[in-house]
Amino acid sequence: VVSHPVNLYYLCGFSGSSGALVVRGDSCELLTDGRYTVQAREEVTAARVRIGKQGLLASVADALRSRRRARIGFEASHLTVSQRLQLGRLCGPGVGLRPMNGSIEQLRAVKDPGEVEAMRAAAGLGSRVFERVLPVIRPGIRESELAAEIEYQMRKLGAAGPSFETIVAFGERSAMPHARPTDKQLRKNELVVLDLGAILRHYCCDLTRTVYVGRAPARVKRWYFAVLEAQRAAIGAVAAGATGESVDRAARQVLTRLGLGSRFAHSTGHGLGLEVHEQPRLARGSKDKLAAGNVVTVEPGVYIEGSGGIRIEDDVLVGRNGNEVLTTANREFLQL
Ligand code: ZN
Ligand code: ZN
Repeated sequence: VVSHPVNLYYLCGFSGSSGALVVRGDSCELLTDGRYTVQAREEVTAARVRIGKQGLLASVADALRSRRRARIGFEASHLTVSQRLQLGRLCGPGVGLRPMNGSIEQLRAVKDPGEVEAMRAAAGLGSRVFERVLPVIRPGIRESELAAEIEYQMRKLGAAGPSFETIVAFGERSAMPHARPTDKQLRKNELVVLDLGAILRHYCCDLTRTVYVGRAPARVKRWYFAVLEAQRAAIGAVAAGATGESVDRAARQVLTRLGLGSRFAHSTGHGLGLEVHEQPRLARGSKDKLAAGNVVTVEPGVYIEGSGGIRIEDDVLVGRNGNEVLTTANREFLQL
């Protein structure tokens, strides 16, 4: 029983927010409700559709009860404890519910050519958004205004919306990797970190750029080029067969050599696709093996409390023969 909306879309094309797919050896049935009758008919190609008149879990239980002594896998990461208990009660003792972890996510990690095309388009769109907002990054603008401008440009370029809350951080606040935009106004001689994601044709991009407003002091330049070098090393380590930890190590080694290892406070990257965080993980201790068709972010950063932070993030497609950087935004050190 698949209930996570993103997985429903992946498996049968249904993009509604409430439904469940019951997959058996020989059949595949999408259960949803009357709000989605037309939508399901239009979207679903790979499953039969059944419109229920009761709650979703009751419909699922109905579909399962016909199979006595069935063993049913459910998505452990996407069903709440109370839903799980309710489903158990509705199904009765003849049905054994077993937690299933990440099987669909594993399939999703490897993109087919159509998905790669969508992701290339999303990455191109994100890159264009960055180029378009550069002219408005001027002293006086607020973080929240710049975030709004970024999301406006995304939509103007055809995106369905942001894939996560846009990060805009000025000056000292850029030392927080996940800063939320505030009403802080930009001043001269401050760092600006922009981390943006757009959803286009269901697929996400994830892009970070750091620019400086004014003439940057030597130490800021040193940090920037250290992060850029770390990113280059990690992108170079991305290859089919490599492990997540080996890519992470490539970035970390560069920053450690340059005396900034302890300032790199997060992992190097993550898979990307229908959701903004997917498999494989590029992190310390990650045994995930990269495969052709994976799309991963590579996003090392350094964060210096009281001064600011620098992060550079691009989306990389793992190919059979070498990788391809999908995001095309300028990576040079920009002093505006
Ligand atoms: Zn990001
Ligand atoms: Zn990211």
